[in-house]
Amino acid sequence: EAKQHGKNQLRFYTPEISLQLRERLELELGLARAIDREQLRLYYQPQIDRGGSRIAGAEALLRWRDQSGRMVSPNVFIPLAEKTGQIHSIGLWVIEEACRQLHAWHRQGLRPGKVAINISALQLGAEHPSLADLLAGALQNYGLLPENLELEITETALLNDPGRAGEQLRQLAESGFSLAIDDFGTGYSSLAMLHSLPLDKLKIDRFFVDRLGNDDADLAIVKATIVMAKELGLMTLAEGVETREQLRMLQNLGCDQFQGHLLGRPMSADAFGSLLQVAAAA
Ligand code: C2E
Ligand code: MG
Ligand code: MG
Ligand code: MG
Repeated sequence: EAKQHGKNQLRFYTPEISLQLRERLELELGLARAIDREQLRLYYQPQIDRGGSRIAGAEALLRWRDQSGRMVSPNVFIPLAEKTGQIHSIGLWVIEEACRQLHAWHRQGLRPGKVAINISALQLGAEHPSLADLLAGALQNYGLLPENLELEITETALLNDPGRAGEQLRQLAESGFSLAIDDFGTGYSSLAMLHSLPLDKLKIDRFFVDRLGNDDADLAIVKATIVMAKELGLMTLAEGVETREQLRMLQNLGCDQFQGHLLGRPMSADAFGSLLQVAAAA
């Protein structure tokens, strides 16, 4: 009876498992092709300074349009690429592409400010070549300086191996890169740990920004975060600002920079270039 049942279960589950596996393999192969066939793009989302109008920089965000023209979210393919190891070639492509684009903007006389690149924990942990070496190579190719870039590292990436991560961050900071903690508030890093790292900026996760108007506890968390960051000499940037009300509240709390749909969606490099041109003329 049990055997019978087991058999049935096996027969029942097999097609489903292989479908999942097939989808994953297809995604994995598609991603490998995407790198070769240049289906990856970087979009740029403006980061706005305290006054609410000057562009301080942009975050580079990956976009992938697959064979069938479908957009695949980085929330789907980045975790996959981390599992398969493809994150190393993708991460390298992102560094190269961001530097190439920065160089192009500079040649056009535009001032994009800092371009922020998202760095995976696996890139941070790589030894040969190290992230610092890859970055140095790209900067040299395009005649750029470390201060042209900001590196975004999630709080959870730091928590995986704080000792090793701290070592890497110190090396990057010494080289002149500015370092931002991404999605702050979603992990459980201690103040002591943050204080021991050479960080420049805290990016307050949009989860908290989203609840600012509705939840007193979340307002208190954001307020305390901004005060704490100031004490530690860190800049603060609020992610996911969607309404004027959120912007006003964050400005009153002393937040330094803002990013979100209210201020600009992620856009193509051309669109961001045009925005810079308009801003320069104003
Ligand atoms: P993230 O680094 O926290 O990036 C912010 C995400 O919030 C982006 O999603 C952005 O489009 C979205 N966003 C910005 N403003 C708003 C807003 O006002 N409202 C809402 N609802 N969303 C907003 P996206 O582009 O889908 O990227 C998702 C995540 O994928 C990123 O989160 C980052 O963790 C990862 N990612 C993207 N590009 C890269 C990359 O080049 N390398 C690595 N390692 N990860 C990347
Ligand atoms: Mg980010
Ligand atoms: Mg974030
Ligand atoms: Mg995120």
